[in-house]
Amino acid sequence: VTLSVRRNPYVVPSYSLTGDLLSHLSCGLQYRYQNRGALPPSKPVQLWFGQFIHGTMEEAFRRWRDNQQPLPWSDGEIQSVADTVLRRLTARGIQFQRFIVLGIGIERAAQAINRFGPILFPLITECEVKLKGIRQLPPDVPRLVRESDYYEVTGVVDVITSAQLAEARDGNTLAAQLQGGADRFEVIVDYKGMRRPGQDDPANQAWYHHAWQVMTYAWLRAQQTGSQPVQSALLLYLNELAPGTEDMDKLYEDVIETSPISTDVSPTGANLENLTRWRANKREWSARIDTWEDQIANWWRTERRDGATFPRMPQMPTPLSPDFLMKRAVRVIPIDLESIQANLGHFDEEVGTIERSVALEVQTGRLINSWRATPREENCTICDFRHFCPAVGNNYRAVPTAP
Ligand code: SF4
Repeated sequence: VTLSVRRNPYVVPSYSLTGDLLSHLSCGLQYRYQNRGALPPSKPVQLWFGQFIHGTMEEAFRRWRDNQQPLPWSDGEIQSVADTVLRRLTARGIQFQRFIVLGIGIERAAQAINRFGPILFPLITECEVKLKGIRQLPPDVPRLVRESDYYEVTGVVDVITSAQLAEARDGNTLAAQLQGGADRFEVIVDYKGMRRPGQDDPANQAWYHHAWQVMTYAWLRAQQTGSQPVQSALLLYLNELAPGTEDMDKLYEDVIETSPISTDVSPTGANLENLTRWRANKREWSARIDTWEDQIANWWRTERRDGATFPRMPQMPTPLSPDFLMKRAVRVIPIDLESIQANLGHFDEEVGTIERSVALEVQTGRLINSWRATPREENCTICDFRHFCPAVGNNYRAVPTAP
């Protein structure tokens, strides 16, 4: 009797734009361990941080919409939002690992809610819109593991419509940046729990990857019934509102140490002077942060139960102005059909690379050699796998810091 060979299952692989594709672009090997391995990472600093920041913005929006409670909110009201999100994350097994991470997370949430809430929330028409679509896999992907010619791509965004923009109050600086020529259009919004990326760092292409991401969102949105053409995307880099030590180090590098300057929003006048003094003031700032971390720990363990609100982040010795930081937090990316078409292929290629890595690992049985490792300081210092990752040798063994 001749037995027929069982065919590979016809499974359409599903890829999330942020959870899979941006994560794989950041480091393929870390993506393999973290997102596709059986074990979740033990210290997912970035995972906690990203989910916390997204969660607090969505929860704050819902409360603002349902209760019409005017912004800005008190520390107590912000803390109530943070507590809700912390409980949700804990229930899903996602916990902060250091008090400094908790403190910075709540501080940035407070700044984001009170500084962006009043100008952003009145513009949002639809919150947490799920986007989903099917695209063709690159032809050279080996059909070793599955037979599908397609992959599914997914994402979640908030949507602003031109109608909401038209109703915005005079003086809404965000609305002023998003106005457009067309009669009916949409703007998609995405929050980023990170600093505004530099533009000329060959080791970190996040600036460009975020543009690919929003072009793909726009393509997905165009396929939903009742949607209007997406005219631009609004990205909010929330670390900028309360920069940490690494954010300041990177800004110093982008502006003072790189020629030409590697960022499109750079300081002038007093802000430039203050940034120039960053290195000299760093020790003093670190001491203030250490004291603050102790205060956060104390608050979390005892004072919180007696109703005390969270201790706010100390000021830097020579701080950058809030207006400048707001400017750095906002990035508007214009979108049209041409730019969408020009950028869509990037993620198809990335999916092809992931699928080829999967096939290679299945074929050879070797994990490490099958995935592309991209060592970068800001990733590797908080990566669980740095102790045995062959791409970093003995580097980056320090304790993880705040993202
Ligand atoms: S240590 Fe760095 S290079 Fe190695 S897996 Fe982690 S992020 Fe990637």
